[in-house]
Amino acid sequence: MVHYKELGLVNTKDLFRKAMEGGYAIPAYNFNNLEQLQAIIMACSETRSPVILQISKGARKYANQTMLVHMARGAVEMAASISKPAIPVVLHLDHGDSYDLCVSCVETGFSSVMIDGSHLPYEENVALTRKVVDFAHRHDVSVEGELGVLAGIEEHVKAAESLYTKPEEVVDFVSRTGVDSLAISIGTSHGAYKFPPGVEQPPLRFDILAAVEKKLPGFPIVLHGASSVIPEYVEMINAHGGSLKGARGVPEDQLRRAATSAVCKVNIDSDGRLAMTAVIRRKLAEDPKNFDPRNYLGPARDELVKLMKHKNEKVLGSAGKA
Ligand SMILES: [Zn+2]
Repeated sequence: MVHYKELGLVNTKDLFRKAMEGGYAIPAYNFNNLEQLQAIIMACSETRSPVILQISKGARKYANQTMLVHMARGAVEMAASISKPAIPVVLHLDHGDSYDLCVSCVETGFSSVMIDGSHLPYEENVALTRKVVDFAHRHDVSVEGELGVLAGIEEHVKAAESLYTKPEEVVDFVSRTGVDSLAISIGTSHGAYKFPPGVEQPPLRFDILAAVEKKLPGFPIVLHGASSVIPEYVEMINAHGGSLKGARGVPEDQLRRAATSAVCKVNIDSDGRLAMTAVIRRKLAEDPKNFDPRNYLGPARDELVKLMKHKNEKVLGSAGKA
């Protein structure tokens, strides 16, 4: 057993309380390799933003669970070497799909886990989430639950259609499970194709968010699938051999508005994937003789830093809050 405090990590409790009071949201950036992790720590240290490092089940398998824990330890030490005091860092399991996976993460140094039972019948979601909370809280680890289903595809996460969160369920769910935060469905979705062609600027359902806030005053809400699918990256990918036609995300002004509400955590993965892929494609096309990965992964990392600083400063409002 490695407890997260041994790695220098923190849970989400204080971070969410301050985010709620301050009207901003903490960025949750996914990583599965060195360059992504370096970029997250550099961008968040330079903007003095607290950060949630997110690892999906797929990423844990990809990077190796032993390696990942040491990467997280390295990330905390890197942050301490860049700025003092070091920014707070959370290590979070994204979309945990079983009790055993959540237990394994708690025992290997995660300070926060998500148990996603949103695809289950309501009572089964409550029971599974409660079981994870009972275990995680014994180790002071935060738990995120989910109500409502998000459309789109993010690795193993698949849903045919978006089923909005029902505000009338949230009080019962939160009180019976004991979760520390709740992911809700208000129209965001996973991946780079969030809205079908022809749908003009689909708005997030702020009415649902407001109804949830009214039912659960001061309770931290989480938004998944909150990339904006930045057009310049999509264009750069398509201009260098890629084919992402009709990719679209959530407009940044809507995310900015959400971040000032009870939304305390915003998950951003697709924008980082697009930024890296765009720069790698361009660098390889521009320099066909190059075969040193540093010459395309380095610029991709620099672009990620730029992207995340922009998110922290202009979209989530988390810059300067560490
Ligand atoms: Zn998600």
